[in-house]
Amino acid sequence: LASRDFHPENTVIDIKGVKIGGDELVVMGGPCAVESAAQIDEIAKLVKAAGGQVLRGGAFKPRTGPYSFQGVGVEGLIMMAEAGEKHGLLTITEVMTPEYVDICAEYADILQVGTRNMQNFDLLRKLGTCGKPVLLKRGFSATYDELLNAAEYILAGGNPNVMLCERGIRTFESYTRNTLDLSAIPVLQQLSHLPVISDPSHGTGRRELVEPMSKASVAAGANGLIIEMHTDPDNSMTGDGVQSLFPDQFAALLKDLEKLAPLV
Ligand code: PEP
Ligand code: MN
Repeated sequence: LASRDFHPENTVIDIKGVKIGGDELVVMGGPCAVESAAQIDEIAKLVKAAGGQVLRGGAFKPRTGPYSFQGVGVEGLIMMAEAGEKHGLLTITEVMTPEYVDICAEYADILQVGTRNMQNFDLLRKLGTCGKPVLLKRGFSATYDELLNAAEYILAGGNPNVMLCERGIRTFESYTRNTLDLSAIPVLQQLSHLPVISDPSHGTGRRELVEPMSKASVAAGANGLIIEMHTDPDNSMTGDGVQSLFPDQFAALLKDLEKLAPLV
């Protein structure tokens, strides 16, 4: 079902009028984690003003260590839904376990599967029947074929609205957090009809690389970008402040991107 051989035309996912996979570039922006109602409201306002269409933010965070901040949970889903509604943005949030799919689907417009969960097959199966579009992140050690097979689980469950996300893979290079695999963008688009979204934030782990790698992703044909932005990155509650853009950088980037592809 994911293969272009059996579905030659591009899949365009229409969410409340925002089309993902067509000619327009979709930008999803926001913090790594929802921290408070005031924080997500302020960031939503900035994402909207910059021209973004989707508010990102994690209410449930897959942290490497069990003692790190794990997200604010269901309260965060509510805060994000309110901010999205108020500022006219779609919302995307990560769902980590099958048990939480229904509640996340109730509050968010798009459900995100994180890199660590790409092959959580029970989760993927549950997402096949959730009724909401899914952004499936590539596992940091997964091949293209493994990513497409993971997408296949969701599609086979009856959900045709899947986006693939390149978020960087593990290589021998340690200067960057991950190596953003730009080739994944055209390869996945050749092999599949599904929209491809690039995540230069996790893909590099460094704020100063987000702008050039966003532009490179768009040049490579990405249908959209998911970018971390924070009003106070140095005090963000996850370690991802170092890769989060300041609001003015985010706005300047979107202005530049508009020259490469229309942002609708
Ligand atoms: C995130 O988007 O904040 C995140 C945890 O991403 P990934 O699963 O790609 O690490
Ligand atoms: Mn993050």
